[in-house]
Order: sequence, then C-alpha cells, then structure tokens
Amino acid sequence: MQDKELYRQLLGLKEPWDVSEIKVDFAGLRVDLWITWPPDRKAPCPECGKLCNIYDHREERQWRHLDTMQFQTVLHCRIPRIECAEHGVKSINVPWAEGNSRFTALFERLSIDVLLGCLNQTKAKEILKLSWDEMHLIQEKSVRRGLDRRKAAALKRLGVDEKSFLKGHRYATLLCDLDEKRVLDVAQDRKEDSLKGLLESIPDEQRQEVEAVAVDMWEPYINAVQALLPEADIVHDKFHIAKYLGEAVDAVRKAENKALIKDGSELLKGTKYLWLTTPENWSANQKRMFKELRDQDLKVGRAWGIKEMFANLWEFTYEKAARNYFRKWHWWATHSRLKPIAQVAKMLKRHLDNILTYLKHRITNAAVEGINSRIQQVKSAARGFRNFENYRIAILFFCGKLDLYPQETQ
Ligand SMILES: [Zn+2]
Repeated sequence: MQDKELYRQLLGLKEPWDVSEIKVDFAGLRVDLWITWPPDRKAPCPECGKLCNIYDHREERQWRHLDTMQFQTVLHCRIPRIECAEHGVKSINVPWAEGNSRFTALFERLSIDVLLGCLNQTKAKEILKLSWDEMHLIQEKSVRRGLDRRKAAALKRLGVDEKSFLKGHRYATLLCDLDEKRVLDVAQDRKEDSLKGLLESIPDEQRQEVEAVAVDMWEPYINAVQALLPEADIVHDKFHIAKYLGEAVDAVRKAENKALIKDGSELLKGTKYLWLTTPENWSANQKRMFKELRDQDLKVGRAWGIKEMFANLWEFTYEKAARNYFRKWHWWATHSRLKPIAQVAKMLKRHLDNILTYLKHRITNAAVEGINSRIQQVKSAARGFRNFENYRIAILFFCGKLDLYPQETQ
C-alpha cells in the first residue's frame, strides 16, 4: 500500500488519480504502474472544464516514463471519458503526457536534453533505451511543436546554402537566419523551386523586411531570390568566390606540374596546399618553399598572385573605388594567359553587382559554418538518413533553435 502512495507522489499525481497496481520485474529491470481515476468521481471536460460524470473508459494505453532506480518505468491507464452536456463524450486530459504521446512529458524532456547534449542520435538512443523509430518520433513531435510556436520575428539577413545528403548525390537547400544563426527550414534539391518553396513559407510582411541574402552564384537560387524577395540585395558569398579562385589556381598547378614532370622536373611536387592558402597561414616549411619558387616564373605563381590580389576587393569601403579596382584586376586576370583564371574572372564580372553588395552588408555564409559543423556531427553519428524528411527533422531539431519541449502538464 505504501509503495502505491509513494509512486503517486513521485509521479506528482493529484487526487483522485491513484496508482492502483505495481508490478516489478527484477530480472528485466522494469516497473509497470497502473493509474486509475475512480469511476464515481466527476472529471473536468477537456473543452470547458466543467465537472462531468464518467461515461466509460478507453482501451489501456502505455507511456514510457523516467526510470526509477534504473528500472525502466512504464505507466498504464485506461483513460476515462466524460459526457459533457455541451461537448459530448470526450477523453479527459491526463496530467503526465500530451495528447497522443507514447511517452510522459518528463520522459520527452529528458530525451530532448540527452539528444541536444550529446548531438549524437546513436548514443542518445542507447542511453535512453529507445528504438530508432521511437527516437525519431520524439524529435518529430518536438520539431512540430517548435515550428508551431515559432514567432514571426524580424528577418533581416538570410543565408542560402546547399548541402548534400545521402553520400553526396542528393542535395538539399538550407535557408538560414544569419542574425540568429539558426536554420529556418530545409527543402529537397537545389532547384529554383526548392528555394522558392522555402521563401514562400515566410509570411509576406516578414519577407518585405529582408534586406540581404547571402548566396552562391547559382542561377536557380538567384532567380528564386529575385522572384520572391525583389527588395532584398543579393550578396554573393565571398567564401564561395575564394573557392572558385582556389580551384582555378589548382587547375593551373596540375597542368603545369604534369608538363614539368614530362621534362623531368619535380619542382612543383608537394606544393598543392602552398598555393591554396594565404601567406599568414603558411608554415615555416611553406614559407621556405615559396621563397625558392617565387623567382622561377611559374604559371601557378602568377595564378596564385591573382587570387591573392582579388581578396583586396573586400577591404574597400566605397563601391566606386572597388569597381575601379575590379576593372584592373579583371584585366590582369583575363590577360594572364591562364585559362582557368580567366574563366573565373569572366564569371565574377557577370555577377559583379551582387558581389559589391558585400561592401554594404558585410554578410557571408560563414555564420552558417557553425551550423554546418553541427549538421555534419549529427549526420555522421546517424550513419546516413533513410529519407529526406528524417534529415530535415534532425536539422531543425539540432539547428533550428526551436522551443522543443512539451508543455508543463502538471
Ligand atoms: Zn464541456
């Protein structure tokens, strides 16, 4: 008898809720508790709160609760239904769980904390002794709650980035709030419609407030932003631009290295990363390497110099001065007789207006970098996602900064 009262108090159940039966399985480390509401006591209607007579009881259901002394603890109850004059026959609210959950609210809170704490679904699943499906269910419910509660806060600066999921073959489009460093939502593919769908889900008034969007020089994304955020400036991400220039330098190195080897020279062997980094990040060895190579009149040396010169563009304050600098740079690049470099220079010229917007907004998708590394961590721990929806839920769960917790029920 004492045990039942103890459990009733541990569960925080108020009268007339009662723990009517306890079964302990010592070998299986499990406790089962049966909770009842006396059939002769009136209960509040879930709609209007008026006390009504009990009509009948539903089928027995189970809820996983917090462990007691390392014993997995499961609650059982046949939820009573009342008959309200105004609202008819209704199941009453139970204080330990939300509507149709398989877990008590306290267990869900714990699961959310464990997941967020270890950023690793495999580990969390082991700690909580949950199946993949159960854990996914908890995440999905939490994200749905969070999205419902998300307030229409001002969105000023957005970032759009593509991510690969499923071993690099399938893409997803990520829409982020750069100011709050959070993911707003994720869509399948990296097509114009992928981003359009994400932008359309932002209410009109909020959309009009957006000042700038950081995005790669990728036509489908550019088209989507122009169609749905016509007032916002597009800012081509400087890290993406640096990547294009780096790839061009590397293409020059590869071709030149091949030609040199043919002539019996190993001059460029092992220099790949020298040309991909900037002097302030060079090791002592790379500095020595550069000294030996710089007077050799190498093509890759010239390509590298042009790449480094481009970075000066970001230091300008005034657009006009920056435009003049770009014009000079573009001339060097296109007259360098280095085809990969000239190609990138032409692309940059085509997009120049949306590159110079950086000087005004100073935004990049670097803010998304923190988010990206979190996603990477979640992704590798989950050993791939079976489908896109699981991937989306995980990203929003871990990177959406949503209010995930179930409501206090007691
Ligand atoms: Zn009622």
